[in-house]
Amino acid sequence: MNLKPFISFSEYSLAELDEWKNKGGKVAGVYCIYAPNELIRAAGIAPVSLCGKKQAPIKDAERELPASLCPLIKSSYGYAITDSCPFFSFSDIIIAETTCDGKKKMYELMETIKPLHLMQLPHTQNGEAPLRYWMSGLHELEKFLVEYSGIKVTEEALHNEIILQNKIRKELYELMILSADRRSPLTAREMLAVQESKSFSISPETYLKQLQTLRSELHEYLARPELESKKGLRILLTGCPVGKGSEKAITVTEELGAHVVCMENCSGLKGLTLPVEENGDPYEAIARRYLQVPCSCMTPNPGRLESIKELVETFEVDAVMDLTWLGCHTYNAESTSLRNFIEDEMSLPFLHIETDYSESDIEQLRTRIEAFVELAE
Ligand code: SF4
Ligand code: SF4
Repeated sequence: MNLKPFISFSEYSLAELDEWKNKGGKVAGVYCIYAPNELIRAAGIAPVSLCGKKQAPIKDAERELPASLCPLIKSSYGYAITDSCPFFSFSDIIIAETTCDGKKKMYELMETIKPLHLMQLPHTQNGEAPLRYWMSGLHELEKFLVEYSGIKVTEEALHNEIILQNKIRKELYELMILSADRRSPLTAREMLAVQESKSFSISPETYLKQLQTLRSELHEYLARPELESKKGLRILLTGCPVGKGSEKAITVTEELGAHVVCMENCSGLKGLTLPVEENGDPYEAIARRYLQVPCSCMTPNPGRLESIKELVETFEVDAVMDLTWLGCHTYNAESTSLRNFIEDEMSLPFLHIETDYSESDIEQLRTRIEAFVELAE
């Protein structure tokens, strides 16, 4: 199986970006899955994820931001002020969103570095008023995008992007189900790379083809009669986004012989089962779909529990691990209701881990996860 385009996604993406920029293409840096890919692409702009996942830039960020902020914010901001992330350098504009308080305040500082548009996201999904508000925000975003690209957004372009992004979501979801087969040779870190690549692919058509190829190769591989099922606890990982550089909990879990078979977070499957309606007004369809993303910045946030329930059943999960970054108040606070739901209503073992990007607590993490795995098996 050819996993190289996924494992080495940064290098592939940077080469694609270079080519794109040489042809005069514009790039938008994004920090959240509420950023509507379909609209950004229909304006002729390539979105790329700028979420910091490494510890290195945090010390620079802490010169301006409180140390108590979550590492994702500090890492992202550290990269921005030191201009040490090539993806940030390639970005002409930043698409920001009013999700958590820390990010909102980071964006106020960041807008002095690059042109930035702040999408005003409602904090509830209930009722028509938040939807109308969010839709008007999408039109504001469109104005900003068109100003930078000079490319008018047409309904046809939007429609084509909706169909393409829906296909990618479906393909990725089905591939992840297949990857979680008990006989699958793919590791959790490989599955993470496949999922994370989505936010870095400059050509979504190429990414879709890569997913289709991998799924058919894996399908063929799994048809071998001699394959045996892997033993070990099957874990669903939820909580804050993780990625290349911040995957220590996944690494430790796999080293202990358990398997992270499903990642419900934003670097994983969050929102993948929510397609954009392909008929009707594309703006309203995009607004409706993105507003349903079940992030802890929403209140109430029942969609997260519903999604986890569905994923637990689909991926035949034995236990749930909730990983939250230190300083992420919304996910940390939501962990209590999630625990109640998982333990009381789903009768599954539950572990909440609160950590940061440093390696300082790695042995402590190992001890906690080891005890959890032993008890849950
Ligand atoms: S966790 Fe929430 S704020 Fe963070 S990327 Fe996901 S949707 Fe956006
Ligand atoms: S992990 Fe939490 S605190 Fe950090 S950026 Fe995401 S929502 Fe905000």
